[in-house]
Amino acid sequence: MLKKTSSASCEQYISGMISDYLYLVYANCKALYSAPDLDKQTCRNEFKNVIAGICTQLNLSTENELLQKLLKLKTNEAKTFLHVHPFLEIFYLINTLDEINADETDFDALGRFKYTASYQKQHTLESNRVLKLILSTCETIPFLKRSFTPLPVASGFFLSHDIDSLYGSSVQDGLWAIKNFRFDVLLKLFANAITQRPHWFNIDLIMAIESEHDFRSTFYWLVNQGRIDKRQTNADYAILSPKLQTTLKQVQARGFENGLHKSISTQSIQEEAECLQVQVIGNRYHYLKFKLPEAYKAIETSGLKLDASLGFAEQFGFRNAYSFPFSPYNFENGKAFSFLEVPLTIMDGTFQRYMKLPVENTANRIIDFFEEHKQNALISVLWHNTFFTNYKYKGYLQEYKKILAYLHASKLRCLNQTDILKQFSWTQH
Ligand SMILES: [Zn+2]
Repeated sequence: MLKKTSSASCEQYISGMISDYLYLVYANCKALYSAPDLDKQTCRNEFKNVIAGICTQLNLSTENELLQKLLKLKTNEAKTFLHVHPFLEIFYLINTLDEINADETDFDALGRFKYTASYQKQHTLESNRVLKLILSTCETIPFLKRSFTPLPVASGFFLSHDIDSLYGSSVQDGLWAIKNFRFDVLLKLFANAITQRPHWFNIDLIMAIESEHDFRSTFYWLVNQGRIDKRQTNADYAILSPKLQTTLKQVQARGFENGLHKSISTQSIQEEAECLQVQVIGNRYHYLKFKLPEAYKAIETSGLKLDASLGFAEQFGFRNAYSFPFSPYNFENGKAFSFLEVPLTIMDGTFQRYMKLPVENTANRIIDFFEEHKQNALISVLWHNTFFTNYKYKGYLQEYKKILAYLHASKLRCLNQTDILKQFSWTQH
């Protein structure tokens, strides 16, 4: 049974600092350049004045009351309310209040917020709506025009691999081989089993392919094993086995990074991160299964610096309608969290499992998305290790190679978690 976030439980903690948070959004937006003589306190006061004006217009007396109103706003009634001022829509979208305020029916069988229930889908928002609002307000609101100048930056990309299975090939590719009468493949899989070279244990291959372009990616690892229920399974490998520990060290030695793939378990993120036996700075939730705002609080408590989970399983694009990493608003203390959320933009399974796009069209669809966002974005791409293989997931390796060749030619910057933290971490100003 899913638990709905109780607005009431948030209310008692709110200190109401929407205006300060909005100041941080603008001050940390990479597509803006701050005026050299920007007086930060004056600018913050200007945000306060605008929010105070919005409150008056809405017959509310404090920012606190406005926040409480926003925390009760359902997707279907949000549009009229948010159109009172672009600041409201920016705050609501960037912090995905549509899912924080959602009803139980807005979540799928795994407990994930559905794209169809989102504000952006229901109101057919343009991609990257938040950045568009930020840029347009810098033209139309006098104090913003004085404080910030739009300065487009080339987009960057972040490559990552969730490692759910390393030993699934003999069964899953085996079934594929039987269905397709490929007894030659069965023989190969049998030989792999005997020589202990499982076809899906391909971390070396992934690093070699990406190194050809001098790209470095991040591998997210599960520390718990076994089946949970019919739909959910943790790892089929033991993270503490010598083979896995050697692999994690090889990843680091080649300049790639490791991260935690938070499993389905009652352990905390911190406890799981310690099980990896190597230092990590980032997490992604397994199955993209998380509930907001609790999942953000868990990241903050763990001390990790980055989370890379905020994406829809069934839809590519920007889940919070914003193209840059950001620090979410903490409704308990009215401040920005200290970690960086790096939304997931593109995942292999979205095209294969949910959209059922023919495999040979996958790369072109993704390249089109990159072409539409060549500026002012950090695009995060997840390609599972299983999608680098030849049988059940045949064809996706070639599509990935096409994407990498495009990225190389386009001269977009490849950033790993450390680079992203350096470049996008919010300063509190
Ligand atoms: Zn996973």
